[in-house]
Amino acid sequence: MKILILGGTSEASELVSLLAEHPEITATLSLAGRTRAPITPKASNIKTRIGGFGGAAGLANYLEHEEISALICATHPFARNMPFNAQEAAKIAGVPLIFILRPQWQAENGDKWIEVQDNSQVLAALGEEPKNVFLTVGSMELWQYSTAPQHRYLVRSIDEIEEKPLMGATYITARPPFTVESEKELMREFGAEYVISKNSGGSATRAKLIAARELGIPVILIARPHRPSGKQAATAKEAMAWLVEERSDD
Ligand code: NAP
Repeated sequence: MKILILGGTSEASELVSLLAEHPEITATLSLAGRTRAPITPKASNIKTRIGGFGGAAGLANYLEHEEISALICATHPFARNMPFNAQEAAKIAGVPLIFILRPQWQAENGDKWIEVQDNSQVLAALGEEPKNVFLTVGSMELWQYSTAPQHRYLVRSIDEIEEKPLMGATYITARPPFTVESEKELMREFGAEYVISKNSGGSATRAKLIAARELGIPVILIARPHRPSGKQAATAKEAMAWLVEERSDD
């Protein structure tokens, strides 16, 4: 069985680890190429490719040309294009598809969450008065905050951001997972008054929410974008079980 995993998430990495125990399945892990030094699999039945396919048609071509028998879309819950491309390409090529979509974070007692739809609503919620804002929305969307230069931003990203869109912001690099204690220390040191985050879900970056709750800091949380319908797994393990089933149906 030959499969393609559209990756870039901890679930994709976990699935790759599970596949190392299944030499009868050969897999290709596909990455968009946004992270400069991605962690790539070592197992001999898994190879890595990097870069786009050229839309849904390009992906369908790849599926047909490489004779892929199952497609796993394990891109980030906020990836806008790839899930739709995967759905269309799988249909064109007649390849079974499953999405891995981790559950959203849910508010708990003591959380001060302001739930919004997008970055423009984040800015509206922040208001006109200058605030200290810990911004964790990812480097591709920072430019949207340049219209609100009155705030003091702390920006965290995995790789160093070369073209920094926010003048006067503090930029730091760090790779998740983070601990609650280190998140609290960072927020205290910066004097964070707001934390801005996408509702990504998962454990790797959840510590910031717990830290904010314990420090009484409000979190402005951006809701997930619209997703295509289709077969869905919440974890890598569930996707692995589906693959084993697909294989026995072959
Ligand atoms: P996107 O809107 O879904 O993707 C934009 C384009 O990048 C796609 O049309 C595709 O190009 C290419 N692409 C995306 N994922 C790919 C993959 N796994 N393998 C090969 N090409 C891929 O997603 P995005 O928001 O730009 O994010 C890019 C990547 O970063 C995704 O893999 C996502 O999982 C990861 N990521 C995103 C976020 C976020 O908040 N958006 C956060 C963490 C990680 P073609 O059309 O040419 O095939």
